[in-house]
Amino acid sequence: MKDIDDLVAGFRRFQSAYYGERRELVERLVRQGQAPKVMVVACCDSRVDPAIVTDCDPGDLFVVRNVANLVPPFEEGGGYHGTSAALEFAVRCLNVEHVIVMGHARCGGIRALLGDIRFEGGAGQFITPWMSIVEEARREVVAIHSADDADSRAVACERVAVRVSLGNLMSFPFVREAVAAGRLQLHGWDFELDRGELHGYDPATRGFEFLAEGVAG
Ligand SMILES: [Zn+2]
Repeated sequence: MKDIDDLVAGFRRFQSAYYGERRELVERLVRQGQAPKVMVVACCDSRVDPAIVTDCDPGDLFVVRNVANLVPPFEEGGGYHGTSAALEFAVRCLNVEHVIVMGHARCGGIRALLGDIRFEGGAGQFITPWMSIVEEARREVVAIHSADDADSRAVACERVAVRVSLGNLMSFPFVREAVAAGRLQLHGWDFELDRGELHGYDPATRGFEFLAEGVAG
């Protein structure tokens, strides 16, 4: 477990790698601004940092992270639509070519949705309504996978939740227009932590296929 001094030491290594050895990259990013081609919607979970998992450099990924990597449906009017604001900036201003919704195994948000984690002492005030975005996933999993063990149900739910988020992406008019014009592609991923596998959603089968097979265990 790292403490704050470790983080500052880590920053110094980053500084030496990018401001020393890769000065050109930093200068380009400063001079030209950012121009990422990919937006990732990922979970807050400390184990699933998209840039680490995909071995990316600064400037490669435009990332929004929230509990359980959810995309809310398009809504007008009040509210603080943080994820929608990030999506709007990525698609309408940065013109990203891909949006990846990156789900992951052992997600606490998904466990909470399924009732496998119970909140105590008033916690859950914000998480519970937030997770209701994918209530449809919970209902589908309870209906189809009720006989499965908790881990299998959670895997099924995290994947259906990715599918629901992909559907919600298409509820944003500017996403629909960009997809229809061929300027934007949507992807659903599921990162399996135990074996280090990556699965991708296939709209044709509505299932997940290997993008990278596991290496451990
Ligand atoms: Zn998570």
